[in-house]
Amino acid sequence: MLCEKCGIKTVVIYTINTGNVCDKCKDEINGVNMTPEEWESLDYFSEYEKWGDPSKMKLSIVRAMDDLRGYVGKPIHIHCGWENRTTGVHPDGIAVDFHIEGMHVIDQFLAASRFDAFNGLGVYLWWNNPGLHGDTRQNKLTSDSRWGSVKKGQYVPLDKIFFELAIKI
Ligand SMILES: [Zn+2]
Ligand SMILES: [Zn+2]
Repeated sequence: MLCEKCGIKTVVIYTINTGNVCDKCKDEINGVNMTPEEWESLDYFSEYEKWGDPSKMKLSIVRAMDDLRGYVGKPIHIHCGWENRTTGVHPDGIAVDFHIEGMHVIDQFLAASRFDAFNGLGVYLWWNNPGLHGDTRQNKLTSDSRWGSVKKGQYVPLDKIFFELAIKI
């Protein structure tokens, strides 16, 4: 099969973020993995949080989380990072679900929105601790790069109607 990015005929791997691309193009799109040295260099996080498999996490999203943590000045609890799923962008190692302690979920969203890195942002109202999904996908201008979730398994546009519900929690 032909890689959709470089056009070379090889074994291609499909992911939601990359489409059907070769290993090399997949790495170019998703960026480099965290190394033990990179984990050491962070200001706030370590590989011992709930990243799934820390070696499969990409530098882009972990750095963005560390920057966000520094900006908000409050603890951030990681719910999950890399996951072996067939849907979404967690299998690419570019996504984290989390909540920021002591911040309303709307304020969490506004804080994360300041960072260019978070191309994908989802707002989850139904979690025990309402929080965000953040990821460093390729494109933030697609309609599916922003969403809200009021109930498990239900996703809605991040619009006025959603924020009217969010403001009540
Ligand atoms: Zn390629
Ligand atoms: Zn997620």
